[in-house]
Amino acid sequence: MTVKALEDLDLKGKKVLVRVDYNTPIKDGEVADDSRIVASLPTLNMLLENDCTITLMSHLGRPKGEAKPEFSMAPVARRLQALTGQEVEFKTDLEPSEPKGKIRLLENLRFHAGETKNDPDLANKLAQFGDIYINDAFGTAHRAHCSTHAIAKLFTEKAAGRLLMKEIHYLRDALKNPARPFMAILGGSKVSDKIKLIVNLLDKVNQIAIGGAMSYTFLKAKGFDVGKSRIEDDFIEEAVKLMEQCKAKGVELMLPLDHVVAKEFDQDAEARITLDQNMTNEEMGLDIGPETINSYVKAVREAGTVVWNGPMGVFEWATFSTGTVSVAEALAESSCQSLVGGGDSVAAINMAGVADQITHISTGGGASLELLSGFELPGIAALEE
Ligand code: AMP
Repeated sequence: MTVKALEDLDLKGKKVLVRVDYNTPIKDGEVADDSRIVASLPTLNMLLENDCTITLMSHLGRPKGEAKPEFSMAPVARRLQALTGQEVEFKTDLEPSEPKGKIRLLENLRFHAGETKNDPDLANKLAQFGDIYINDAFGTAHRAHCSTHAIAKLFTEKAAGRLLMKEIHYLRDALKNPARPFMAILGGSKVSDKIKLIVNLLDKVNQIAIGGAMSYTFLKAKGFDVGKSRIEDDFIEEAVKLMEQCKAKGVELMLPLDHVVAKEFDQDAEARITLDQNMTNEEMGLDIGPETINSYVKAVREAGTVVWNGPMGVFEWATFSTGTVSVAEALAESSCQSLVGGGDSVAAINMAGVADQITHISTGGGASLELLSGFELPGIAALEE
């Protein structure tokens, strides 16, 4: 079965229960960044246009099953009211009650221990708030929690909201038949975190470009001198295997050709650009070098589809951010379908100021990695049943 979209349901005048992702930062009792609330508006507007009565539910932070005031969603309710211009009822209990207006928001789901335990009793209590269930929270779709999994099983009328549908389209369905060449750019700190993703991509992509600390494990496996760079000795064998698989499947594996190195892991450390893949014993690689940038940027220009996950270096420090920012800019300039996931890559896209030139920026870090890795996400699977 496929996941239904809002358009596939008869929404007119219905009571709709919506799992949203309002896990927003709160500062001094107010929402500090409302982008996730803003992102939910297309789904809410469509429901309002259909005269639905909406009950919204989300988690915020990690209150660990206890009602802790600092994790209250009251500030979210206030911001939602300002953004929608509708009265938003903030409901702190799960007792049955008639809604006071068109929108109500339940208090933090993780105030209930049953939320993260996928508890069927809690699911039953939540289910009373809707005839229809909508999941629009991609960030938690990889978790089998009560509000994403147990509850979906109680509804026959259910669908993915606008945001979730977009993620499923770009990160799963569209990649079954991507515009070619199809390139993956993977970075970040650990090979171990990305092995499943690489293995899944091997059957789909034409090229994989590696950057960030994870590239040094591959380079060490090939016999280069990687000095004090952060590597995973336990994964050298795995890296060798992956390189062999790339060769066997005709996937071009692109590794850094040069690096920006320093003697200390420090943002003010003196940087040097290496002449080739090697560095001295006192040095560590903290960014990809200019020759590498050129080759990755050229490949991005020629690509039909690019998936990017993970920074090319310690991009949080200006001296070592050039590689990551250059990839962001190249993606923006390329006519390819550009799909970006993972908090750091998304931050780099924003740092480069090119978010509006990217085809799809995923809202879920872990969830995007799992979906791209070919896993079935419990929150999506539950909508398909
Ligand atoms: P991850 O959480 O695995 O996506 O890794 C992201 C982190 O990797 C970022 O905080 C980067 O600063 C860090 N990182 C990227 N490249 C390097 C590098 N060459 N050495 C050390 N850390 C790095």
